[in-house]
Amino acid sequence: MNEAVIFEGFSYAYPKTEPVLNEIEFAVPRGSFTVITGPSGAGKSTICRAMAGIVPNYYGGRSAGRVLVDGEDTAGQRIADLTRFVGLVLDDYESQLVSLTVEEEVLFGLYNRGLAPAEALPAMRKALNEVGLTGKEKLRLDELSGGQRQRLAIASVLAYKPDVLVLDEAASALDPEGAESLYRMLDELRRDYNLTVIVVEHELTYVLPYATQMLVLVD
Ligand code: ADP
Repeated sequence: MNEAVIFEGFSYAYPKTEPVLNEIEFAVPRGSFTVITGPSGAGKSTICRAMAGIVPNYYGGRSAGRVLVDGEDTAGQRIADLTRFVGLVLDDYESQLVSLTVEEEVLFGLYNRGLAPAEALPAMRKALNEVGLTGKEKLRLDELSGGQRQRLAIASVLAYKPDVLVLDEAASALDPEGAESLYRMLDELRRDYNLTVIVVEHELTYVLPYATQMLVLVD
């Protein structure tokens, strides 16, 4: 299976709303850096949610067609099981942070998944190293810059070793230098671990140099 994610004629409507996605059809090659762009309200966040299985499994509503992740239909799968394949970093990633210190933040999710310290501690150190936060383990979250907190949110997701990392408008709160450095880091992760990176962006300047394919939602 050379595709990490496949949308097969996927349509979706939130409960009590008009359809948001109409027969969406695309494939994301494994190891690609895929940029999804388009106007506000086009359904980009909804596509991210569908890849993580929270649409429709958590939101409810009506869907047709299929979303395959690593060859498996997301329909009916538990969201917690899907996080092994797809890690989602939200645009308000600050709301994803729940702990007092950097190391607690990454360990929180790993312990929640039932990992013993012997597995969780090395996974935490590796994830922090991947995002350049080694040495910051004991810092409180309020001692980090905005860009560092975002890297921490990414590390917390990477710690589960997903095959696919999805970031929804991840650079919106960053200055140009922060955005450039975020995308450079994601591209390095992609190359080093054959990670599939999918980013939703409307400001394309900083991400385009790294994109291997682009999906444009027109309507
Ligand atoms: P984008 O990310 O491209 O801005 P979204 O996927 O956020 O687009 O939204 C697509 C459409 O779905 C919009 O019309 C939005 O109002 C609607 N929508 C988004 N989330 C919900 C929700 N939880 N319930 C109902 N409608 C929603």
